[in-house]
Amino acid sequence: MKPSTAGLALFAALLLLALASGSPRPAESGSISPSALRFDGARALAEVDAFLLAAGGPRPAGSEANARGRAHLAGRLRRFGAVEEQAFEFRIPEGSLVLRSPWWRDRVRAGEVLSFANLFLDLPGEAPEAILLACHHDSVPLAPGAEDNASAVGVLLELASALEGRRLARTVRLAFFDGEELGLVGSRRYAAELGADRRERIVAAIALEMVGWREGAPTLHFFRSRLYEGTDVPSADLLQRILDAAARGGSRLAVGDPFPGMSILYQSILRIARPPLGSDEGSFAEVGVPAALLAASSFTRFYPDYHRETDAIDRLDPRTLARSGRALEAAVLELARAPRPSPAGEIDLLVRSRRMREPWLRALAAVAGATLGAAALERRLGRATRATALLAAVALLAGALLPGGFDLPLVTAAAPAALVASVALGRRAFVRGLLAAVALLPSLALLGLLLGMDRAYRGAVDFDPSALPIGLALSAVLLATMSAGGGRIRSAA
Ligand SMILES: [Zn+2]
Repeated sequence: MKPSTAGLALFAALLLLALASGSPRPAESGSISPSALRFDGARALAEVDAFLLAAGGPRPAGSEANARGRAHLAGRLRRFGAVEEQAFEFRIPEGSLVLRSPWWRDRVRAGEVLSFANLFLDLPGEAPEAILLACHHDSVPLAPGAEDNASAVGVLLELASALEGRRLARTVRLAFFDGEELGLVGSRRYAAELGADRRERIVAAIALEMVGWREGAPTLHFFRSRLYEGTDVPSADLLQRILDAAARGGSRLAVGDPFPGMSILYQSILRIARPPLGSDEGSFAEVGVPAALLAASSFTRFYPDYHRETDAIDRLDPRTLARSGRALEAAVLELARAPRPSPAGEIDLLVRSRRMREPWLRALAAVAGATLGAAALERRLGRATRATALLAAVALLAGALLPGGFDLPLVTAAAPAALVASVALGRRAFVRGLLAAVALLPSLALLGLLLGMDRAYRGAVDFDPSALPIGLALSAVLLATMSAGGGRIRSAA
């Protein structure tokens, strides 16, 4: 096989894989449609505005502004039913991550006791089983917290209005937690005091975090975070159902990152690095409840005013609030009637990649692997290039053949595979260099992201020792290929 053919076949295969992993499943039958949804972005924005005005400033746990915001919130919730309050005190533990964070350092001490209060409202359904929708009503001390997280408070208030009068097969429980910014304090306390019985009744928990800024794109997340214990894998079933319902409702969500092709890479990076990211969904994942996070931020589109004084109402947009809220409304309607999602603990590492186990996708991966294998036998390619091709071929074939093991090989093989293809495709050194640089981008992005996160979190990024050497080894091979193999191609035709 000619190298150019091999390269083209490989690119085609990878492109198809990327497209297949990024597009939603075809719509299923059901009553969820854009016209059936009632959520309104402008009304949600008005709720955010009123909440911020009532609080009158940043709302850290235990502050007067926090209490004022909470009183206003309780008043708004009482329109829909009885409001439950869970008030408690909590001592900031020695060694808490927040003590090292730039937002709390010098503002809170280890051993300090603060008051917290969570608020709850039930929209009763026919069954005692519940879907829990959560947000936090507190903020960090310096930020007005319009996006983080008054936006989610407004979305849940407007959602209560949108769901009013609907027949729900399951109860929808709205939870407004305190002290998220101090380490998920409110949701942790609630989850711990639930007891096996009431915990069993929660079929799914969805937390909302920063859901309304102007340039934001609603995205589903599940972090393998060092903030939580025992939550290595998401409930892929829950995430898939939310995605499908949101798409049917006309508010398509991305998983992990909205940037084309970034989803798989992003999810892998987060699982490898286990940065202390995430929100109240983690408190439920920890106790075995299928959980997910809806946010309009991700790495390629992160809210620039996060935890700053500029996190004010003028940064929000009713259109983003509507996209988040309508996706959530569709998800709730789906989850209120569908079978229970299976809990965390599935073998799926990455949600979207589960569909790669479909036979035709496996076949595609096998073809891509075989094509690279053929490239490895191509004598006109440099030795190092052929070695890279062989490695990538083995990774792709292993991914195609091993049960449940497609995702990580794809990610680790993508960059070297693209490099081999670039070498095969490019005739001029300049073109080869350009293509190789593009092929290297994912690895460089990964490295930069890991170093950046480690600095931002002051050494708190926790690398997964099993995954990093694979990436580093492949990067080394890549560099060797660049310097040794790339220049010695005799013919690329
Ligand atoms: Zn937040």
